[in-house]
Amino acid sequence: MDKPLQFYSTNLKSDNLSFHEALLKGQAPDKGLYMPLVIPFIPIEEIESFRTMEYREIAFHVTKRFLAGEIPDTELKEIARDSYDFDVPLEKVFGRNYIMRLDHGPTASFKDFAARMMGRLMQYYLRAGNRRLLILTATSGDTGSAVANAFYGLETIDIVVLFPKAEVTDRQRKQMTTLGKNVKVLALDAKFDDCQALVKQAFADPSLDYLQLSSANSINIGRLIPQTVYYFYAYAKLALPGEQIIFSVPSGNFGDMMGGVMAMKMGLPVSRFIIATNENDEFPNYLLSGKYNKIEPSRNCISSAMNVGHPSNLARLLSLYGGMMDEKGNILRAADMDLMRKEIWSTRVTDEETRNTIGHAWKEWKLLLEPHGSVGFTGLMKYIGEDETLPGEGRLCVSLETAHPAKFPVEIQKMTGIVPPLPPSLQGIDHKPEFFEQFPNHYPDFKTWLLENYK
Ligand SMILES: *Cc1c(COP(=O)(O)O)cnc(C)c1O
Repeated sequence: MDKPLQFYSTNLKSDNLSFHEALLKGQAPDKGLYMPLVIPFIPIEEIESFRTMEYREIAFHVTKRFLAGEIPDTELKEIARDSYDFDVPLEKVFGRNYIMRLDHGPTASFKDFAARMMGRLMQYYLRAGNRRLLILTATSGDTGSAVANAFYGLETIDIVVLFPKAEVTDRQRKQMTTLGKNVKVLALDAKFDDCQALVKQAFADPSLDYLQLSSANSINIGRLIPQTVYYFYAYAKLALPGEQIIFSVPSGNFGDMMGGVMAMKMGLPVSRFIIATNENDEFPNYLLSGKYNKIEPSRNCISSAMNVGHPSNLARLLSLYGGMMDEKGNILRAADMDLMRKEIWSTRVTDEETRNTIGHAWKEWKLLLEPHGSVGFTGLMKYIGEDETLPGEGRLCVSLETAHPAKFPVEIQKMTGIVPPLPPSLQGIDHKPEFFEQFPNHYPDFKTWLLENYK
């Protein structure tokens, strides 16, 4: 097999690691994020050959570039096949403008794409090393359910999810609490930040080292690599020979857009990324001014999974453009802003615009969007309006829909008058039995609970 690719930490103070070491570690010891030392390249002829392949085959060919030498092809093929057993619809809106629906996975959010492959890769490496891992995750909704579902039933991994009781919807809770087996769920009478603080305290507690704690949030490089694949997929299925493509990505913690930007650096012919944020607009402001000011506390918008005032993946983005940002958001070296502005265009979308687009898209094109996808589509509409060289009917544009409309029935009914039908993955969930414990927001109790449950 080939020599494995090395991964460096964006803070440049930790040792380089191979993919599987970085995957099992999560965050680098210097609090930086792992990035590939070299971005692998896929020639255009090979990208064109993806045209006739299924999603899972494309996933194999793309992720293989990062994992060569670290997993046999047969295993990786099997993991891709097992991870992607659902549709990835590309829906035409008008002209050459499309929506890519990344919401047909088991928890109806795009986070399924990364979580499913990451869980299976972790399982492979843990089995090979005869090891176990305990994943701790604090969630305000989508991450917890995607990770819990993706890791459910894997025999080398236990998972504990902490969530703020009052801050998740019934359906979000049930996506986590109806599983059982290796998934344990704790409901706290607290805020999301409190849950996150308990998890961080456990990570920093040396007396828990024996538990091999790890995290599954988007700081993990294992979440990022599978997110390069759907950009190749959309291009292969829609582009004419020699054509370039524009993507619009609704963004919060910027893991999704980093997958896209890496795909572009791997050779995918992308002419531009449109990065649409909600009212947490630290990134559009940074792109304009070169100055970065995080938003504390983050602003509450209806696209709630994007309420992030300091996206951790920005450290990766700056690194790709020759800059350096530490985990607190200080820019230690400026990035190549001219190149970044050439390749990325960014805009902020208010809640009012988000709602109006949901109503307008339904009326005009019978296009059903939920708040996150609406932020992305609004970004695309603004870009088409602003870029005079881009007649709306002319060039190929794909906007990402990151959650299923049925997860947000109230907003959608208000703006369109219809009740979005439940996808198969959410059907029946309302009546399944739930397993979870009510838990105090108190670290000593949490630690005792971990010690007793995972000896
Ligand atoms: C997490 C999430 C996002 C934001 O993705 P990032 O990678 O954090 O930018 C957007 N939409 C939905 C539905 C999400 O769950």
